[in-house]
Amino acid sequence: MFVLLLSRWLTTSEIRRTTGAKVYENRVVYRGKVARYVSGGAVSYGGRVFPLQKRWKGGKLYVRADQLAPILLQMGGNWFWDAEGKRFFKGKPTVRFVMGRMGDGERYVITITAKGGKFRTIKGEDSLVVEVKGLYGKFWKIVGDGDFVSYVKVVQFRKRTRFVVHFGAREGGYTVRKRGETLRVVIRKLVPKKSDRITVVIDPGHGGRDAGAIGNGYREKDINLAVALKVAKILRAKGYRVLLTRKDDRYVSLYARARMANRSGAHLFVSIHCNASRDRRASGMETYFLSESRTSEERAVAILENSAIRYDIGYVKPDEPVGAIIGDLLQNLLLEQSYRLALSIHRSALKMALTKDRGVRQAGFYVLKWVMMPSVLVELGFITNRREAKRLASPSYQRRLAKAIAEGIEEYVRQQQGGK
Ligand SMILES: [Zn+2]
Repeated sequence: MFVLLLSRWLTTSEIRRTTGAKVYENRVVYRGKVARYVSGGAVSYGGRVFPLQKRWKGGKLYVRADQLAPILLQMGGNWFWDAEGKRFFKGKPTVRFVMGRMGDGERYVITITAKGGKFRTIKGEDSLVVEVKGLYGKFWKIVGDGDFVSYVKVVQFRKRTRFVVHFGAREGGYTVRKRGETLRVVIRKLVPKKSDRITVVIDPGHGGRDAGAIGNGYREKDINLAVALKVAKILRAKGYRVLLTRKDDRYVSLYARARMANRSGAHLFVSIHCNASRDRRASGMETYFLSESRTSEERAVAILENSAIRYDIGYVKPDEPVGAIIGDLLQNLLLEQSYRLALSIHRSALKMALTKDRGVRQAGFYVLKWVMMPSVLVELGFITNRREAKRLASPSYQRRLAKAIAEGIEEYVRQQQGGK
C-alpha cells in the first residue's frame, strides 16, 4: 500500500509550478528535451537510465522529487532537491565525485573534490558517510562494482552534500585521507580469515520488507528462516560452527550477506529459498550453484531471487548482471566445489524423497556471485503449489528438509576431508 508520508513525493502540477518540468505518465519534458520512461520506475535520457518512481493516488500522478532533480540537472536545469527543507532550489554544482578500481585491482578509490575542502566523515558498521560543503546533484544513487562498493547514496541539502558509501562484499577495510580540497577513500580487498573449525554460513533468503515469493497465504521469508534455523541447530549439534545471515525477520542486503560470510572465513555458504512458478503443479526441492550458462527456466528462477537486489540499488534491469560478470579466477575455481556441494545436497534430498531427480541446476544468483567460498542455493519447494506450500509451512516437513540439507553438507565435508 502506498502512503504519502514523505513530502519528497510531489504531484506533477507542483513540479511544473516550481521547476517548469512537465511530467507525464510516459515521459518528462524539460526545456524541449524529453526523458522517456523505460519501466514504471526509471527513465532514459542521453543513453543513461535514471530511477524515477511514480505513483497514482487520488487521480493524481506523483513522482519522487529527489530522483527527478538529477535528471533535470542532466537536461540543462540547475535544480537541486533539498532533503531537509523538502523543496527544489537552484544552484551550481561545485563537488566532484569519482570512483573506480586502482591499477592492480586490489584497491578501490573514491575521490571527492570540493571548493574550500570542508569535509566531515562518519564511520558506520556497513557504511561510510562523507558530508561535504557544496552541491553535487548529478546522481541520486551511484552503483559500485559490488566487490568494494555496492552503491553510494547521495543526499542533497541546501549547502552541503552527503555521500553514504555502502560497502560491497569484498571490502576489507579502508583509509580516509584529506589533502587540500580532495578527500580520498582507499578501500582494500578482503583477505579472508582462516578458521580451523568447519564453518558453515546458512543464509535464509529475503526478510523484512522483502517477503520473497508469496503463495497460498504463505511468505517465502518465513519458511526460509524456519528451515535455516533448523539446519543450524542440527549442524551445531554435530560440532560445526554455524553463522546465520539473519536470525529473525529483518532485511539484509545481498552484499551484506556475502560480506558477513567472507569476513567469517567460512568454508561453505548455503542460501535457503522457496521457488515460485506460473505452473501451479511444479513441485520439489532443487539445488542450484552459480553459473553463467542458463536455460530459460533456470534464468526465470534467478530473476525471481535477484529481484531483492532492486531494494538495494533502486533500479536494475532484472536480467542485467550488476557490475562485471565473474571474471574472477577465484570464483571459477570455486565452481567445481560448489557443484560438488550442490550434488551432495541434491542426493541427500533424493534419498529422503523430497524431490524428483532432475539433477542439480545452475543459475546466476547475485548472492552467490559475491561469496568467496563454495556456495549453493536451495529452493526448498514451490510455494505456488498448494499442497507443497502447506507442507513447507509445517514444522515436521521443515525438519525433514533441514535434515536433508544438513546431511548433504556433512557428506560433502566428509568427501573433502577424505582427501581426493
Ligand atoms: Zn527466494
